[in-house]
Amino acid sequence: EVVVVGSTNLDLVVTAPQLPRPGETVLGENFRTVPGGKGANQAVAAARAGAACGFVGAVGDDEFGAQLRASLVAAGVDVRGLRTVPGPSGVALIAVDRDAENFIVVAPGANGELTDLGVDDRAAIAAADVLLLQLEVPLPTVVAAAGLARAEGTTVVLNAAPAAPLPAELLDLVDVLVVNEHEAAVVAGVFADEPPVLVDALLELVPRVVLTLGARGAAYADRSGLRLEIPAPRIDAVDTTAAGDAFTGALAVGWAERGGAVDADAVTAILRWACAAGAACAQRPGASTALPERAAIEALYAA
Ligand code: ADP
Repeated sequence: EVVVVGSTNLDLVVTAPQLPRPGETVLGENFRTVPGGKGANQAVAAARAGAACGFVGAVGDDEFGAQLRASLVAAGVDVRGLRTVPGPSGVALIAVDRDAENFIVVAPGANGELTDLGVDDRAAIAAADVLLLQLEVPLPTVVAAAGLARAEGTTVVLNAAPAAPLPAELLDLVDVLVVNEHEAAVVAGVFADEPPVLVDALLELVPRVVLTLGARGAAYADRSGLRLEIPAPRIDAVDTTAAGDAFTGALAVGWAERGGAVDADAVTAILRWACAAGAACAQRPGASTALPERAAIEALYAA
């Protein structure tokens, strides 16, 4: 089982011929709402990839909150850890122009209210194989969840997104760090673009590092000396939005399915599986709506 402690936002997306400048109003075209937030996306990714997945998070007592809750339920995510708090849900205001250039403003809303873990949340983390974390809810909550997981033998997977330097108290609790190249540089505090340099710097901080490399796939390294480069499946990429969430959710599922006991062969298989999930997501337009089902991942994994 995978438990995610993280964020859920409603993306309010409008397309327009061009983006407005400050003070300007432009007439938009289509408007749609899409459930998002890295935490919820990765929980949905894990559930679609075939795992039992619980989500600990917070929505507001508005209509958006009901919509966010319903979308997690529809994906088969266990929402007993999802509280409704007074005030607005998290939202992301997104405008996209015809060149797919965008601007995004996120108001965390209820995500900022996820300040403590209840008895049931603690039991769920203790019982899980993998705890999957990101950085869109208050850092003390992330640290508390990771500390509990460490004490209970649950593997801690941290996707350090959005990119931020991390305190040692959190890094010391991470079993597997998942980052893209930008996040890797920020977490490591180095200005290097060579993946091996980034990975070496991160291994000083955490025992296992997974570096996603977009269409180039992913790299893995750990303190036992194992180093892998996994090429991405060759696909026609349509929209890579949420590919990182698909990858991370599937990685957590692969780890959980092996009960946390992972040797070199298992790591290779898990990384290939996660790359297949990221690629399957990139084949479809949209964000959370493009997160792939297990069958779609398996089709690319086998290819
Ligand atoms: P992020 O969006 O977080 O920066 P990446 O762009 O590195 O993440 O994508 C995450 C994973 O999704 C990659 O490691 C890869 O496995 C897969 N992926 C992303 N873009 C492509 C692509 N164009 N072709 C194949 N796989 C891709």
